[in-house]
Amino acid sequence: MSFAFGFHTDTGRIREQNEDYQGYFDTPNGRLFVLCDGMGGHHGGALAAQLAVKSIGAFFAAPLTNGLPIQWLNDALEKANLAIITESQRQQQTQNMGTTCVVILLQHNKAFYAHVGDSRLYLYRGKYLQRITKDHSYVQLLADLGVLTQKEADYHPRNNEITRALGIQNLIVDVCNEPIELQDEDLLLSCTDGLNGMLTDSEIADHLAVPETLSHKARNLVEAANKAGGDDNTTVQLIGWNWFNIEPNPSSTENVIVPTNRYSIGKIVFYGLLLAGFTISLFLYKNDRRNRLKYAKALPNSQVLPLSKAVVSDSSSIKLAVKTDTSSIVSVLGSTDILFKHIQKIPDSLGSLCKKYNISKDLLRKYNYKLSESLTAGQLVLVPVRAIHTIEAGQIMDSIEKLYYIDRKLIMRANGRSKPKLLVGDTIVIPMGLK
Ligand code: CA
Repeated sequence: MSFAFGFHTDTGRIREQNEDYQGYFDTPNGRLFVLCDGMGGHHGGALAAQLAVKSIGAFFAAPLTNGLPIQWLNDALEKANLAIITESQRQQQTQNMGTTCVVILLQHNKAFYAHVGDSRLYLYRGKYLQRITKDHSYVQLLADLGVLTQKEADYHPRNNEITRALGIQNLIVDVCNEPIELQDEDLLLSCTDGLNGMLTDSEIADHLAVPETLSHKARNLVEAANKAGGDDNTTVQLIGWNWFNIEPNPSSTENVIVPTNRYSIGKIVFYGLLLAGFTISLFLYKNDRRNRLKYAKALPNSQVLPLSKAVVSDSSSIKLAVKTDTSSIVSVLGSTDILFKHIQKIPDSLGSLCKKYNISKDLLRKYNYKLSESLTAGQLVLVPVRAIHTIEAGQIMDSIEKLYYIDRKLIMRANGRSKPKLLVGDTIVIPMGLK
């Protein structure tokens, strides 16, 4: 039984600095692989990515006796999240820094994994490349809601806007339910969006099919992304199970944390620390990650509701609103935002819709691509709301007002009701806005 590991990272052809960071740790709890794509100005992105890799490595450095790998991964990412928040509060210059993260914990042939953001984990098995993680991104959300096809989402101009990151309050980590049981010659590929933003899944699969070492495969993938434009930093990790070629030496030493001694986190060596002279504002670049964070921050995240209340519902069937699975929840930088699918009945102005749901045009436009000033009949508009509430026995308008600290007038307007009467089983929208 053997495993092989190869990786490569590169700044790309546009960026001045590599804000990706990755690490491989041989720990008493299994082999650990961490890959991060940082964001935030003035070295913040690189710092956040490094902090995450370091913190997660440290979490697994000592033998863990309580709980299961799935819980460890969740706890490790939450701890890394806290480390980034604490550091960003300490320094004015790195406020708002954050990072995506993919973590794999390999125990024999069982690969446990977790992720936050749009860095991906793929499984390559028998010449077939399968996406294991689902991006925490705005366009992926639209694809999940059926507004965009998966292909449209993949090539959407806003596919760089992420909805979750480490470094944010109220983080929700995506942890696997079950580990992947690796078969002989399986490959796990984790990558930052510099790879999948430049190459299609089938192009990535073509490169993986070429018989060569994992280090060479990783390097070739990164070079292919650069040839295709190299708009972003690109990092690739490849883990092979019972792979024919065992490569103990990393292919480069940049942006990687390599343990020099088994189980000794204190001896971890850091390579490729921050590049000096980073002065050009990343705002100049099309896919600027600061814009991603700016976008995400602009969204409402003050209301955190329990998951059980978070649903995406449809105005055409409001009394029959069905709770959907958690993949439909819009989570913006960790908080849980709820989208209501409004179907416009008659042509009207955008302003009327804003008034109905007590929401600004700017906010609606964050969720709806190319929203014009007038709405047509049948048009679908995603409206962020505080909650979609089903009336329980004993609940009256008075108790709903108190529960959500909101004026009944706003509730009645959002639900098109002239009277405050509520029936048990009624499902109503609770709009944004406090009392
Ligand atoms: Ca990136």
